[in-house]
Amino acid sequence: MNGENLYRLSPVWLQNTLCSAYGLRVNLRRYGRGYSAIEREVFRRETLSVDQIRTLQNKRLKAIVARAATKVPYYRDLFRRLGLDPREIMSVEDLKVLPLLTRAEVQERLAEFVSDDYEQLTTTLWRTSGTTGTGLVFPMTLRAEREQWALWWRYRARFGIDRSTWYAHFYGRSVVPLDQTTPPFWRVNYPGKQILFSGYHMSDRVLGHYVRELNRRRPPWIQGYPSLLSVLAGYMLNAGESLSYRPIAVTTGSETLLPYQRAMIEKAFGAACHEHYGTTEAVANMSECRYGKLHVDEDFGYVEFVKNGEGNAELVATGFANEAFVLLRYRLGDNVDITHAHEQCACGNPGRMVKGIDGRIEDYVVTPDGRKIGRLDHILKDMVNVRECQIVQEDVNRVVFRVVRGKKFTEADHDKLVLEARKRLGSTIRIDVAYVPNLERSKTGKVRFVVSRVSTERRDENSGRC
Ligand SMILES: [Zn+2]
Repeated sequence: MNGENLYRLSPVWLQNTLCSAYGLRVNLRRYGRGYSAIEREVFRRETLSVDQIRTLQNKRLKAIVARAATKVPYYRDLFRRLGLDPREIMSVEDLKVLPLLTRAEVQERLAEFVSDDYEQLTTTLWRTSGTTGTGLVFPMTLRAEREQWALWWRYRARFGIDRSTWYAHFYGRSVVPLDQTTPPFWRVNYPGKQILFSGYHMSDRVLGHYVRELNRRRPPWIQGYPSLLSVLAGYMLNAGESLSYRPIAVTTGSETLLPYQRAMIEKAFGAACHEHYGTTEAVANMSECRYGKLHVDEDFGYVEFVKNGEGNAELVATGFANEAFVLLRYRLGDNVDITHAHEQCACGNPGRMVKGIDGRIEDYVVTPDGRKIGRLDHILKDMVNVRECQIVQEDVNRVVFRVVRGKKFTEADHDKLVLEARKRLGSTIRIDVAYVPNLERSKTGKVRFVVSRVSTERRDENSGRC
């Protein structure tokens, strides 16, 4: 019997013990000896000025480039082919001499991005799950992993959250056996202060139990995929249920937080919702400040905004942290709104500001005349009676809006949805609305906002969001 089967057949108390044992092991790895020094350093960097951050960036960049050119086969070869001395890259502006790197290239030549000496470093294997099932598997140094965690705690500290704060976690791991039909639809990791709510049992029939459990345990912090939190929020608003306490914050990750989801989550939980952007490859990070602005964490990696439209850019990242698997100018495949990138925020954070994450590059619909239309979440901006929505394009002449309706959803909402969609997609494409009980999820439980079955060109696999 394998571990998963053993877990599935265990009684709930034993599953809680196993979750806690796993949590303890994870805690020891992440926060064991040496972690506090990294955390202190990462927290200190938040107080640096723009100039000091730039100096730090260039110093870290030179170190990782030197490492790439000597110890990473792909780059050793690239520098040789380009006739480039790595010492010519003195600052982040000089990075432009290197070509952009796609995930497809990394996938193809995966082993060549791993440093020669990775076995001498303390590493663990990480994987990203591509939407079509082909992910990356790569080593990450313990130091890089810890730096990334310290960065996330620095972000959470802005809202009064630290490692002693209990939280409800809604994410893609299946901790509750799928055939279970009665509560508890949650398990507890005591060392990690986590109540792990199942993302695979969330139907209207049982969501009342979720709300009651939240009210019984009163975790001050709620965290999860926006697509899961909005399922619960939608249920609560629909059923007129609410929390009997006020959480200090709700945070989301792994998927783009769509504006209609944020509005619904804040209303249902009675707390501000904050998002962060992280990558499994540990190459870039962005996090919200207490003024609700998303800042690039400039000390962790160098993020380039490669313009692809008015006020819009694709994220390209050069990671400083992972010495075992080096990626320079790596296309992340996520679009951001850079309208206010260089404005100063009242919070004093030295990081450039991103107005919003506009979703993934491949989140677009192709019209019959060949136009690619993205940023379609704007259609849902004021649609308060839509609980969930996903756009499916089966062929170039037709899109289907799969909609989970709220209780107050009427014919007028239907008409408004079609009208707003028409404004963006034009008059020639057929627009259908299908009412469904829930949306299609990937293997890891994530929801893609646009599911396209049209192959106009190769849609690059993107980085793993976390
Ligand atoms: Zn700020």
